[in-house]
Amino acid sequence: MSTHHSLHPVSPGNPQKQEEPRDDSTLDVLLRPRSWEEYIGQDRLKQNLRILIDAARKRGETPEHILLSGPAGLGKTSMAHVIAREMQAEIRITSGPAIERVGDLASILTNLLPGDILFIDEVHRINKTVEETLYPAMESRKLDIIIGKGPSARIIQLDLPQFTLIAATTRAGLLSSPLRSRFSGGAFRLDFYSLPDMQRILRRSASILGVTLETPALERIARVSRFTPRVANRLLKRTRDYAEVHGQGVITDAMACLAFELLSIDDMGLDAMDRRILETIIKKFGGGPVGLHAIGAASSEEEDTIEEVYEPYLMQLGFLERTPRGRVATELAYQHLGIASAKQKPLLS
Ligand code: ADP
Repeated sequence: MSTHHSLHPVSPGNPQKQEEPRDDSTLDVLLRPRSWEEYIGQDRLKQNLRILIDAARKRGETPEHILLSGPAGLGKTSMAHVIAREMQAEIRITSGPAIERVGDLASILTNLLPGDILFIDEVHRINKTVEETLYPAMESRKLDIIIGKGPSARIIQLDLPQFTLIAATTRAGLLSSPLRSRFSGGAFRLDFYSLPDMQRILRRSASILGVTLETPALERIARVSRFTPRVANRLLKRTRDYAEVHGQGVITDAMACLAFELLSIDDMGLDAMDRRILETIIKKFGGGPVGLHAIGAASSEEEDTIEEVYEPYLMQLGFLERTPRGRVATELAYQHLGIASAKQKPLLS
């Protein structure tokens, strides 16, 4: 059975584009940028990383360890892949929660080859003992292993090959300062993308998927994609599905509009849960300030998810503020939801 997928962009509108069904995860790999040129936006980050990497390459060394932080779906994993490609290095991928014991980390590290890149996603969720084993590995490429138990236990030290750790986190604030300080190459924050960058990302993805995306539809999808490439790609796929079922396969603005209505996504890209969170703050807690715990309980959503997935975008839009006393819904949030705020009420009565 052939599992070959062409990696070349297919021309838009080509009716023979679908040689075989592709599931979403295969598509994600297809859509991933592969070079600095394909990696759209985040210009300052790219400039900084390019210098770091080109300089290391000139010296014949592996780049220093790098920390990437920022909301999910902004391109941290993709950046690690681009760096690996630029360095012509192999990349090994794992995540903080997957490295449960020191032994797991030891086996990952001792299997690295010189020049490899180790990518650890969700590094803020790594446990303390594993984290402490990581320090000497990052600093001086030494791995301390305890052999045996009790009085006869001894520590042996293994030398590790030259490697670069690229770690990603959605919660840089949760990293301990000893861990943070060991990213000698630097800690970089990814920002939400600009609207023109979102449009460029969508245009590129549409061309790779071989789907025809009319300009007004492209602009609409870019607008509601939470300034986040992963969301843009997901919504592109959903609108394509909709256009294939209900239309001729071409994504027109009308098709996109209907698809978003069905997905309960509004003009600003808020979904049902975003709105529920804002409504909870406004209707149950008088607009705030209110603690995250209370919002979680009242809206039946995990606190972590609220904090990592929903709040960054609501804050980016200026709908929500984090204050020392809790979360506050802003005037803009009231306006967007069509709810009169306490400030406006005296004027009305
Ligand atoms: P993160 O690791 O930050 O959660 P990913 O790197 O997995 O995000 O990005 C999610 C998807 O968004 C990728 O599969 C890729 O297709 C797309 N993407 C992310 N950043 C970019 C970018 N700068 N240019 C083009 N596509 C991007």
